[in-house]
Amino acid sequence: MTGAVRNVRLPAVHALLAAPACEPLVAEYGREQTVGALRDVLASLRGTLLEGGAADASEPAVLAALAARLAAANRSPLRRLFNLTGTVLHTNLGRALLPDVAVQAVADALRWPMNLEWDLETGKRGDRDSLVEEHLLKLTGAEAVTVVNNNAAAVLLMLNTLAPGREVIVSRGELVEIGGAFRIPDVMTRAGALLREVGATNRTHLKDYADGINGATALLMKVHCSNYAITGFTKEVTLPELVPLARERNLPVAVDLGSGTLVDLEKYGLPHETTVRETIEGGADLVTFSGDKLLGGPQCGIIAGRRDLVAAIKKNPLKRALRVGKLTLAALEPVLALYHAPDLLAERLTTLRLLTRPAQAMRALAARLQVPFQEALGDSYTVAAEPVTSQIGSGALPVDVLPSFGLAVRAAPGTRGNPLGVLERRLRGLPVPVIGRIADDTLWLDLRCLEEAHAEEFAGQLPLLKGAAA
Ligand SMILES: *Cc1c(COP(=O)(O)O)cnc(C)c1O
Repeated sequence: MTGAVRNVRLPAVHALLAAPACEPLVAEYGREQTVGALRDVLASLRGTLLEGGAADASEPAVLAALAARLAAANRSPLRRLFNLTGTVLHTNLGRALLPDVAVQAVADALRWPMNLEWDLETGKRGDRDSLVEEHLLKLTGAEAVTVVNNNAAAVLLMLNTLAPGREVIVSRGELVEIGGAFRIPDVMTRAGALLREVGATNRTHLKDYADGINGATALLMKVHCSNYAITGFTKEVTLPELVPLARERNLPVAVDLGSGTLVDLEKYGLPHETTVRETIEGGADLVTFSGDKLLGGPQCGIIAGRRDLVAAIKKNPLKRALRVGKLTLAALEPVLALYHAPDLLAERLTTLRLLTRPAQAMRALAARLQVPFQEALGDSYTVAAEPVTSQIGSGALPVDVLPSFGLAVRAAPGTRGNPLGVLERRLRGLPVPVIGRIADDTLWLDLRCLEEAHAEEFAGQLPLLKGAAA
């Protein structure tokens, strides 16, 4: 063993550190980190050689390994990627992408002090909600609004303010679970409110709500069935049907709209989704919705509705724990401002642009990428340009799909193992990871979210897939 150690000859640390190629590494990562990584590289090299393995221990090889090690250790675990899943608002991939106006506003908010809670007119302390209040009142028709961390927080805060220790009536058909452990019954419990379920899973009548009301009732609540649809023999009490009962019993009605949209999507050729304004006009006393779903803004939750109820919500000490930071407000404000030009919205609001992108555009892109993709993958796979269907995602219009086009990759007949799994992993390992979807023995890459501006970058990394055969 000792003899073997003597036989391993490695460049000395001080010599490597003095090499010109090491200078930029020290400049970028600092001396301490570079020296530490260098010792690690040498130790692993020594280990390999002692075990009789082959390794290049030349100075350039050691420095190249050092550079790679430092780069890997300093790469953020949060990476940008190509979302070719076909789900535009993908919760696990960060939901809405924001337009450049919002990006610029966030950059400014990061670099500069801001009048976050400072009224520049009076020179006195202000309220952060007022930065987006005017836009939201105009866009929703509500009397008052407040913004919190996400829609889950909005629902929690609303229930905790309006119904602590009291009952909230919800139809059994609307006891939604959103992925990631947001369940209406559980949120209700955590908010300190008591859920009173009424009706049946498929049918709830107005009489069920009426019979459920008692002295402990604080609120009637409707929840958007964001990720499912109940079809067949069904009956749902609509908001306009429910409101007269609530008024008669002097109870407020709250609606958790989930995604919530500020515009009539039908005007943009998309399926209709109830807007926040329609919900307010339909008689809801409070509406809660997300900022990063169809709205196309940053993660946040918006509560809109009656002035007195919003004022009570803002006074709840939990509001302080759930409020949004300046980066969120910086991003949200310019996004809301875009809505004042509805005719330009489909071009300017990234989410809407992606959702309304014509299948023709994806078709042309698929035709262009099919050959280089096939070349990169070789004979083990076949690549075809085929129609696919995209989804909006994040609980908006769960049953509606949007016609799109993409690349369909299949394993060549007779290929063994799990070739699609291998390819999926290779795509994830690219410098800008590519995320697709495997279904029906096919790896689908929906091109809806690959905009022209990034198509070249996408194509540029395809050659790195060479040799991806199973
Ligand atoms: C998405 C959704 C939520 C949760 O919203 P987040 O912004 O993700 O917290 C709550 N309720 C409904 C109906 C939803 O669709």
